Amino acid sequence: MDILVVGGGVIGLSIALELLLAGHNVKVIVRDEKEGASWVAGGMLAPFSEGLKGDFLRFSVDSLKLWSEYLDILKDISKRNVFFSQGILRIALSEEEEKKLKEDVREYTQTYCQNVVSYEGSELLKEFPYITEDVRYGVIYGDEGNVDTEELMEALYRAVENLGGEIVREDVLRILREGDRVEKVYTFFDEFTADHYVFATGSWLKEHFGFPVYPVKGQILRVNAPIKDYVIYSSKAYIIPREKDLLIGATTEDAGFDHRKTLGGLSKLSGGAIEVIPSLSDAELLEVRVGFRPGTPDEMPVFYFGENFSVYGGHYRNGILLAPATAKVALRLIDNNEVSEFFKIFSPYRFKEEA
Ligand SMILES: Cc1cc2nc3c(=O)[nH]c(=O)nc-3n(C[C@H](O)[C@H](O)[C@H](O)COP(=O)(O)OP(=O)(O)OC[C@H]3O[C@@H](n4cnc5c(N)ncnc54)[C@H](O)[C@@H]3O)c2cc1C
Repeated sequence: MDILVVGGGVIGLSIALELLLAGHNVKVIVRDEKEGASWVAGGMLAPFSEGLKGDFLRFSVDSLKLWSEYLDILKDISKRNVFFSQGILRIALSEEEEKKLKEDVREYTQTYCQNVVSYEGSELLKEFPYITEDVRYGVIYGDEGNVDTEELMEALYRAVENLGGEIVREDVLRILREGDRVEKVYTFFDEFTADHYVFATGSWLKEHFGFPVYPVKGQILRVNAPIKDYVIYSSKAYIIPREKDLLIGATTEDAGFDHRKTLGGLSKLSGGAIEVIPSLSDAELLEVRVGFRPGTPDEMPVFYFGENFSVYGGHYRNGILLAPATAKVALRLIDNNEVSEFFKIFSPYRFKEEA
């Protein structure tokens, strides 16, 4: 089949990769390769540290399980290295946080996550002496992980091209729809037709479909610091040691598409990180980055399909984690006409029912 994918973030490209592997002809239209949230993301694969629940947790765990194979295939096809670290240390800094985290650990170990090591405050400080003495409790979720998202995105672009996919760098201005079908997609210079159209335009999804997906601004710091250990996830900041740098994330701002890097953001993130790891006060600031998470009113994705098209958006804080499972949902629909239960769970009509 000829497939047109609109959107070149982690979701569009992961779907493109899956479809190419299944033998389809794939064209990806992307307005600006680097404008997506995917390049800026912390890259944590963290359904438990994020405290996800219910069907959303189930989908997230499905995706987490796919990650190892997804990464192997990606590295093999792209011939590129993608830094990955295993395990995330989730810490509690107050009595209330400790209670909540212990409840989460009890729930997750009974359901999805057996690979857990937990520490009371003093034990944790023996193991990780650079963490603040205010720490009360911590748990390493061993199945979680972290991926370098710039390396991931570079590899995805390379893999799609290596498998014969075509990347078209243009802005989709209009989608011609007749009933439940898409007839054509227009850019300023060209028009495109396909057997199936995939739309994965992140925070810009509302422009063409009207679904309630809106940008949630996130600022994130890139610093130089000698810590090479687990990702630390806390309420003050998350701290992500990588091969070449360390990330400190991230603000959550209702500010539309405001690209500015602010002193407020810098102060919140650096202050939070230093509270967690005091020695970070000596870290060299390399860069402040800004990205736009595709948010929805209930913070869960939006999946939708018509006769010859499908839409995947609203992945909010977890789009990197959710990319492999989203790509499988798309492949099954396009290849086998198999409608995943997640089209119902993540249907945009849930917002209408609530209204
Ligand atoms: C600071 C920050 C930290 C984050 N940390 C994590 C994390 O640790 N773990 C995690 O799982 N997730 C994280 N996320 C969330 C994650 O980045 C997003 O959920 C994910 O990147 C969404 O991917 P996407 O492909 O839907 O959108 P995007 O990556 O935003 O891509 C959208 C694409 O659509 C294209 N596009 C839009 N409109 C058009 C048009 N009209 N024509 C052509 N192309 C168009 C854009 O150019 C872009 O390429 C974080 C996000 C931010 C901002």
